[in-house]
Amino acid sequence: MVCLKCYCDTERKFSPFTIKREGYEITFKEVPSWICPACNEIYFDESEVEILHKTVQSLDEQSVKLKEAIVYWPGNER
Ligand SMILES: [Zn+2]
Repeated sequence: MVCLKCYCDTERKFSPFTIKREGYEITFKEVPSWICPACNEIYFDESEVEILHKTVQSLDEQSVKLKEAIVYWPGNER
């Protein structure tokens, strides 16, 4: 694909992708991407972004359980 900023041809590479959510932050270290060699702009395909969003959706569901999992151990009360 062509860079939308400077119209150079982009290269197929891997890039990190960080998503910040309520209560946690996650970085996918190697997401297939398009990188512009001229201005370093990074583009992600819709199919890859969709996979990341589905992954975060299930993480959201699991992380809610963490908040509910506060356990008071016997003898630990003050
Ligand atoms: Zn560019």
